[in-house]
Amino acid sequence: MRLVILGGGESGVGTAILGKKKGYDVFVSDFGKIKDSYKEVLIINGIAWEEGKHTEDLVLNADLVMKSPGIPDKSPIVKQLKSKGIAVISEIEFAAPFTKALTVGITGSNGKTTTTMLTYHLLKTAGLNVGLAGNVGKSFAWQVADNNYDFYVIELSSFQLDGIVDYRPDIAIITNISPDHLDRYDYKYQNYIESKFRITMNQTEEDFLIYDANDEAILEWLSKNKVKAKLIPFSLTDEFTEGAYIKNNKMEVKINHEEFTMDTEYIALEGKHNLKNAMAATSVAKILQIRKETIRESLSNFQGVEHRLEKVLKIQNVQYINDSKATNVNSVFFALDSMTTPTVWIVGGVDKGNDYHELMSLVREKVKAIVCLGVDNKKIIDAFGNVVDIMVEVTSMNEAVRMAQRLSEKGDTVLLSPACASFDLFESYEDRGRQFKQAVKNL
Ligand code: ADP
Repeated sequence: MRLVILGGGESGVGTAILGKKKGYDVFVSDFGKIKDSYKEVLIINGIAWEEGKHTEDLVLNADLVMKSPGIPDKSPIVKQLKSKGIAVISEIEFAAPFTKALTVGITGSNGKTTTTMLTYHLLKTAGLNVGLAGNVGKSFAWQVADNNYDFYVIELSSFQLDGIVDYRPDIAIITNISPDHLDRYDYKYQNYIESKFRITMNQTEEDFLIYDANDEAILEWLSKNKVKAKLIPFSLTDEFTEGAYIKNNKMEVKINHEEFTMDTEYIALEGKHNLKNAMAATSVAKILQIRKETIRESLSNFQGVEHRLEKVLKIQNVQYINDSKATNVNSVFFALDSMTTPTVWIVGGVDKGNDYHELMSLVREKVKAIVCLGVDNKKIIDAFGNVVDIMVEVTSMNEAVRMAQRLSEKGDTVLLSPACASFDLFESYEDRGRQFKQAVKNL
């Protein structure tokens, strides 16, 4: 069997290693450059590869193709493969049959990484033999090749889900759905929603689907489609006989006639959105019958993930917060919503078709000044020019932080929550977040 892998990144190389171990004739083809560290791994494992091109003779003779999530369906080589009827699948689809482990698959527009890390933390604290896969750390396929975990917690993007055929998570979470990545979905929001719900398409009555019961897109989809999995809703406002909700400042999770209750003030993660993430993760813990004490301990000591509403430093009684991962409007909504002091907001970057409308009232209420950090800030200035008194444009992180310091006074918060991608001025959102933290430390 010839397995061709498009993309020599983390998921591509992981799949190559697993494929080789399982006896496939493996070839890795990357149109860009492959990182040196990955090249070494391929060479040591005797796996053939190419970079800077896709040689048709070496790719189109595949029996099976694994496409990395970054490569769009529109790309010419993928179109050619599909027109020849060759199956093009994702890493999760390829690797899942090689493990008997129970998998928790987590998708959504925002909160995937946070919910994945928290769920992993809960399972790990409970002493389960669990692997963490997806965006963070080693790819799922690589771990399936190397380890023998009994459980995996896997972050799944819609691109990973587009490439599944039979993959069936025992427990699935959809954290929420709001427009994102529409360039990959013919600019049709409905296509993106359908892609997220692929997570449950192979689930059976024995499986679980945990979801935000106040999310418009999710509710509408569920009202029109049938799901076999057992539904576990979570909500900040509604109550359920089975599900998770917040009542009188307590988180309640009721599953399988068992109930878990915890005061929300003891949950370390802050903000309403994180209560939702906590409800989703705790639902998994309850399904897996993790002890209440362990759940309590885990929720009270989990400090969150870098670049997600990360508290950096307090300087002259001004709190600096790094939310560089907020690359869309919905995540900024929750960031502003969780602000409890007047806020100097650093925003901007590469606009992905943002509609700032839903932020208006929060900005009016919480934001005292805006620092625009992008090459083109026109949309932000148009949207908020009449709402906020002070607006300043800058072109580097150092300037942004120094300007924010000047505009803030005792008791304020300086929040980097860009609502945009980072590629105009930075390498990645991580780079942007790190530069922010460094600039704050230099103050
Ligand atoms: P993802 O992996 O889906 O991008 P992250 O956990 O990395 O999600 O968080 C991305 C951004 O969204 C951060 O700014 C974070 O504070 C915010 N966020 C986290 N959870 C949620 C949620 N449930 N709803 C809305 N925004 C969220």
